[in-house]
Amino acid sequence: MMETLDHWIGGVPVTPAGGEYLPVTDPATGRTVRRVARGGVADVDAAVHAAVQATANWLAVPALGRGRLLVELARAMRADATTLAALESSETGKPEQVALAEVENSATYFEFYGGLVGMPAGETLDVAPDQHVFTIREPFGVIGVITPWNLPLNQSARACAPALAAGNTVVLKPSENTSASSVRLAQLATEVGFPAGAFTVVLGTGAEAGAAVVHHRDIAKVAFTGSVPTGQVIAGIAADRVIPVTLELGGKSANIVFSDADLDAAIAGAVQGFTANAGQVCSAGTRLLVQRDVHDEVVSRLVDAVARIRVGHDMGPLVTREQFRKVQEYFKIAESEGARVETGGTVSDFAAESGGFYIDPTVYSGVDNAMRIAREEIFGPVLVVIPFDTEADAVAIANDSDYGLVAGVWTRDISRGLTVSGRLRTGQVFVNTWSTGSVQTPFGGWKNSGYGREKGVEALHHYGQIKCVTVKL
Ligand code: NAD
Repeated sequence: MMETLDHWIGGVPVTPAGGEYLPVTDPATGRTVRRVARGGVADVDAAVHAAVQATANWLAVPALGRGRLLVELARAMRADATTLAALESSETGKPEQVALAEVENSATYFEFYGGLVGMPAGETLDVAPDQHVFTIREPFGVIGVITPWNLPLNQSARACAPALAAGNTVVLKPSENTSASSVRLAQLATEVGFPAGAFTVVLGTGAEAGAAVVHHRDIAKVAFTGSVPTGQVIAGIAADRVIPVTLELGGKSANIVFSDADLDAAIAGAVQGFTANAGQVCSAGTRLLVQRDVHDEVVSRLVDAVARIRVGHDMGPLVTREQFRKVQEYFKIAESEGARVETGGTVSDFAAESGGFYIDPTVYSGVDNAMRIAREEIFGPVLVVIPFDTEADAVAIANDSDYGLVAGVWTRDISRGLTVSGRLRTGQVFVNTWSTGSVQTPFGGWKNSGYGREKGVEALHHYGQIKCVTVKL
């Protein structure tokens, strides 16, 4: 009998009101791995009700006690790492070592924000001698967290940890393709002693469960990570409801390599930037801008480096069949636009062997920034290489994008690194390195990449609101 996964509401599993379940595919094999609850308005109502009920219990725990629970949850995640990673791999197909690293990274969110409960604190303001004026930071109430399928556990942890640390309760709606690790996370929260309902998970599609979360009148704020079109829909509903929303959307990030760069480091960073998680990362460095005098050398060394990636071992599949088709569609678009395939541009041989959705890491040269493959987020291991001549050209090409999430600058001239960083219209810049940052570093986008910030102390500002109290003495 096929395994089923239910909502996690009020600290217990709850079957869907409509009795229906959705199949989930393991992208490493193309087979159905489990069925997950198909939630709708009634399920979301029950989940939000449980979270509302839990708010007083959560705030009744002294700040240090709440912090301790978050840290305990991090400990429980590490103790449960094998199970969490296996659940994550079963729905994303990512190799075990990659899934284990994601569990570790996700645990650090609860650890970090556990230590920051009660912070940042309010202030006392010197307004007048006969007035005592102070500010306090208060939670919103129930936060609706909606997450995508590429780094499921990581994105759930990234939003839920600061939301809970700021004193809110959460109703998490993970992607219908990748729900299992989020349910396990909520189960662990209950096991370590979170009040029932403080960490609630409701499952189902975006159009049904997701929309019901955003529309629910007791959801006080939405934290959304996902695509631009869905973000626009959610922001529109939030505008009608006059509630705040954090949008972490897509990207088409530029990695700029100047000819004076340490090319070994730049090439390693470029490869990591577009192949990590098979390119299914919002912050993937998918446009490589290379100064013309080192262009041919960089492309040739890039191709050598990519040849060393073992698809299926070092790099997992695309998460859904639809995404697998979409990336192949972009191969045709690249061809029609006249881009030159330096490597890849094909479905991996490992796909036929395994039945999974594997793509060969792909590099295109001869690309102009106006081409669709340079402007649209492909969300697969596909890199476009664009030559440039001057620093000003590099900045202009990098900024000529609807997105503004991340940029990379590779140069031995640190003064140029800082000058260029200042001109890039993105939320993050990496100079002589490429990564997704740390739990401590605020993360978010400019332009179509979204607004609001996750991670770092900064995220806590987005999960609480200020109340100013004036007392006449
Ligand atoms: P998606 O927008 O299709 O779905 C994301 C989530 O929204 C899912 O849980 C889905 O069920 C839900 N949803 C869909 N329609 C909804 C609606 N009308 N109302 C409420 N919820 C709805 O995105 P995806 O395809 O799952 O993920 C890929 C996208 O996510 C990419 O564009 C990627 O760049 C982006 N992403 C961004 C970040 C970031 O931090 N900026 C991180 C990871 C992924």
